[in-house]
Amino acid sequence: MNELVVSELHAGYGGAQVLHGVSFTVGEGEIGAILGPNGAGKTTLLRALSGMVKGRGSVRLDGVELLGSSPDTLARRGVAHVPEGRGTFMPLTVEENLRLGAYVRRSGVDADLDRIYGYFPALKPRLKQAAGSLSGGEQQMLALGRALMLRPRLLLLDEPSLGLAPLVTRELFRIVRAINEQERTTVVVVEQNAHLALGIAQQAHVLETGRIVLSGTAARIRADEQVAQSYLGYR
Ligand code: ATP
Repeated sequence: MNELVVSELHAGYGGAQVLHGVSFTVGEGEIGAILGPNGAGKTTLLRALSGMVKGRGSVRLDGVELLGSSPDTLARRGVAHVPEGRGTFMPLTVEENLRLGAYVRRSGVDADLDRIYGYFPALKPRLKQAAGSLSGGEQQMLALGRALMLRPRLLLLDEPSLGLAPLVTRELFRIVRAINEQERTTVVVVEQNAHLALGIAQQAHVLETGRIVLSGTAARIRADEQVAQSYLGYR
């Protein structure tokens, strides 16, 4: 149903090409991890998938081409992007931020809010608080909650662990896994923390200077010591 198939994707900024023919697949309801060093093009890849940068090639979700559509059209088709730095509106309240996530429709919003509090009970007592007053972890949860209000078929997460304490990060990844399992949402997660991402993903793809240099099951990549050393910088 919501299989993501990326083929020969080229993208960049003006004349600067960043992605040079990226191809990978994330199975329906699976989590695909995109790993790789700074500047490899991971953020650009997510931006191309959500229509924020233009791309050439093909990006199909459930067989339907996404490339060439605006971010707004893609949001309506169920592509939710949680950018690095989270993109929450700091002066707005938690509840206002969540409701904004459902801007593409009018019905079922209150029921969806309840669904979000189920995943993130910590947000419920803070509904009337400004998003800017939340801790970093709570802000990341809010950003994820806002994306869920879209009822996404494809959830794009850019560095969710950035700046968060290890305990908070582990909790966040547990929730991402729960969302993926309960809603069958296909997820693409970009992460510097390869160990964490490999813990929740089925497949992983290593991006280097705009090209996928390695793809495999998360278990295989985690188990392969040489891969871990040469591509991911840890043993
Ligand atoms: P990081 O983890 O540091 O964010 P990344 O793998 O996500 O790295 P990108 O942010 O996609 O990498 O950047 C890839 C390349 O594109 C870099 O060389 C970067 O300088 C360039 N780049 C990123 N954003 C822009 C932009 N808005 N305009 C021009 N070049 C950009």
